[in-house]
Amino acid sequence: MVKNSLGIYIHVPFCASKCPYCDFYSLTDRTFVRDYVSAVCRELKFWSKKIDKPVDTIYFGGGTPSILSSENIIRILDSIRNNFKILDPEITMEINPADTEFLDFEKLKNFGLNRVSLGAQSVNGSQLRILGRRHGVDDIKKSINLTKSCGIENISLDIILGVPEQKNKDIEDFVNFCIYNGVPHISAYILKIEKSTPYYFNKTGLKFWGDDKIADFYDYTCELLRDSGYIHYEISNFSKDGFESKHNLKYWFLDDYLGIGPSAHSFVGGKRFYYPRDLKKFINKALIKYEKTDPEKEFVMLGLRTKYGISDERFKEKFGYNFPKIYYERAKKF
Ligand code: SF4
Repeated sequence: MVKNSLGIYIHVPFCASKCPYCDFYSLTDRTFVRDYVSAVCRELKFWSKKIDKPVDTIYFGGGTPSILSSENIIRILDSIRNNFKILDPEITMEINPADTEFLDFEKLKNFGLNRVSLGAQSVNGSQLRILGRRHGVDDIKKSINLTKSCGIENISLDIILGVPEQKNKDIEDFVNFCIYNGVPHISAYILKIEKSTPYYFNKTGLKFWGDDKIADFYDYTCELLRDSGYIHYEISNFSKDGFESKHNLKYWFLDDYLGIGPSAHSFVGGKRFYYPRDLKKFINKALIKYEKTDPEKEFVMLGLRTKYGISDERFKEKFGYNFPKIYYERAKKF
């Protein structure tokens, strides 16, 4: 990664349907897609006048970026290229395996897409249904094949740990599936029951696992992936050598990133700010809100999420002074 560069995150606030465990900001009504895309381009132009840094990572997340047409994605990419200096960027798009065949991968690749993050979540059909996902296991396979047939090898698959009825065998099947299909990156997220989601009210009587069992699933996953040659480079992320997510590393290294879209967060020049969770406000040029931040402490906390930890050199490079001794004192008791 280039020093003093910028990552750009585009939050796409649309989904074809809502999964019962999810509290990300997204709407199933797609009436305002065109207005949303115009607002994203407007905001990119606005921020390009304030931030003078070259862009080396771009990430389309959501929501479901793959339900935007390829033309809309390209319109946004064009806007980034027209407004910012670009440095051979990693460009990632989150894709729902149910949508792959509607995307023009050749075109997207020609416009720079070089990394795909598939929201697979499981390779057990019954668990995909419990999770309310739109795709089946065949869709995941098809998505990988289609992505690879266009020459995009940098593929990540998500798995959710702690799904009702999940067994160690399901995790093993998932890891074997990734190995068999040559998937170089895996994100393993623990199911969290978020307030106000259908899972929270649990009207269907699902049996959720307790913390200890979920911790066992997590340990099992880490062990299995390590034994299969994946590097555990962040709490929830594993990759083959050289396939770490450059964009996500910016979050953990406290590097600058600009988030565009309703609910998107940014960290630029030591300041944290975000857009409200409201599509209409975003379209009508909502004011961003600033958050309190303590970059020094965040640097320590985020660094400890990764296998790289924290180093005196990186600290000094970022803050211009030596790593304060107080942190060594505090660490001693652990
Ligand atoms: S597709 Fe993703 S963002 Fe949309 S509701 Fe499901 S989990 Fe949430």
